[in-house]
Amino acid sequence: MTDKLSLTAASRRLMTELQSHGLRLVEPDVGAASRRGGAGPSDHKAVVIDGHTIMVPVHTSSAARSPFLAAAPDGSGASELRFDGTAIASIHFPRQPRFYALQTLDGVPYHHIATLHGADVLATTVLQTCIRYASRRNACQFCAIGQSLAAGRTIAQKTPEQLAEVARAAVLLDGVKHMVLTTGTPNLSDRGAHVLCESAFAIKAAVDLPLQGQCEPPDEDRWFQRMKAAGIDSLGMHLEAVSPDVRARIMPGKATVSLARYLDAFAAAVAVFGRGQVSTYILAGMGDSAAAILEMSERLVALGVYPFVVPFVPISGTPLANHPAPTPEFMRSVLAPLGALLQKSGLRSRDIKAGCGKCGACSSLSVYES
Ligand code: SF4
Repeated sequence: MTDKLSLTAASRRLMTELQSHGLRLVEPDVGAASRRGGAGPSDHKAVVIDGHTIMVPVHTSSAARSPFLAAAPDGSGASELRFDGTAIASIHFPRQPRFYALQTLDGVPYHHIATLHGADVLATTVLQTCIRYASRRNACQFCAIGQSLAAGRTIAQKTPEQLAEVARAAVLLDGVKHMVLTTGTPNLSDRGAHVLCESAFAIKAAVDLPLQGQCEPPDEDRWFQRMKAAGIDSLGMHLEAVSPDVRARIMPGKATVSLARYLDAFAAAVAVFGRGQVSTYILAGMGDSAAAILEMSERLVALGVYPFVVPFVPISGTPLANHPAPTPEFMRSVLAPLGALLQKSGLRSRDIKAGCGKCGACSSLSVYES
């Protein structure tokens, strides 16, 4: 695989453009199955450019109008990438993982329990329900956690035993290198930390796999010690938006957990997991200015938190389905200075033990760290 550091400026630019515009496919079923619905960024497909895997929107309305088109792959799996009809690059689609062919003894397909993300990440949403999603007044407007459940592509709750079984198979059959455990928010106390502990403990008993847990800040900081003791190596607590007005508008339920609480929780979590092992998602393009995102990122980096800034993907079926994706220019205006800040501060994607910041496929941020 090409080292991220050796990526050319042209490849870096192409990744940012593709993630903003999305991609049309001559063969929609090419490569590993795309993600539709679910928690976090979605409606996208893994694409390999210059040896680097990124997630590119393929099911959004802006992707349907994208100037980028992937031709049918040739015998070696390479696909010609065209811009306005002109061939500009060769890309690959990762193959379907082997563990997708398996199912549990009681008949649950493994890929309903966890899926392959990026190049080598196993990812699951432990609880596919969320107290905030039940009412559109409280739900995060970008989130599609209920869609894949309603469509029968996943199950509502993955048991620790199921997660351990699938994780072991994904390591043995497909060589996955780390795992993301995210969850809908089940209550207003531990906010998902408890179910992450149970899951991590079972997975670590079955297989040696670095784990990232993702949840809202729990009500008590001692959950950080518990999560670490259960086997979670790095932690994500996702701000999503950074300005109070954008938070209140886009994620009215989640915004009731104040920015002050997030910042306190980040400091307490870094004390447990270590500098650079705590991260947050910031979805650029939902209304925060570039200056606001960069200002918050500076505060986070000073705390030892990795700010994973990701282009917002307008997911079909959500209230923000027709909200425009951020332009490549906007993304570059954030990612270029942020990449330089991360490099100067020694907080690097590749040093994270597990999770989204390490995977990096939902943003081209990591390629701006060089
Ligand atoms: S960055 Fe996170 S959500 Fe995106 S593909 Fe990687 S593991 Fe999945």
